[in-house]
Amino acid sequence: MTACAQGHEYTEANTYRQPTGERHCRECMRAATRRYQARIRAEKKAASANTEKPTVPEPTKLPLGIVPYGPYPKLPRRIPRWYELTAPAPTVKELELIRRLI
Ligand SMILES: [Zn+2]
Repeated sequence: MTACAQGHEYTEANTYRQPTGERHCRECMRAATRRYQARIRAEKKAASANTEKPTVPEPTKLPLGIVPYGPYPKLPRRIPRWYELTAPAPTVKELELIRRLI
């Protein structure tokens, strides 16, 4: 056999011989290396594209008792403890009630 499976000729320059005597086509080895490196690059790119910046969670998804100040301009500094047990985030109407109670 004077050529590899891909048809590259087994010349002196294109043949790599393992110590065991096995011969390999250098051109195919280069192609395999390129495929491998392209795959690694693509995987790295995909991994970096997935690192989205953390966003502020929706008010309803915040832990109990933690309320964002943005949507509620006149929010009291502290929500009563009993409220923390009932709902994750108060509505505007509920805030009015809380303000009257504290
Ligand atoms: Zn080859």
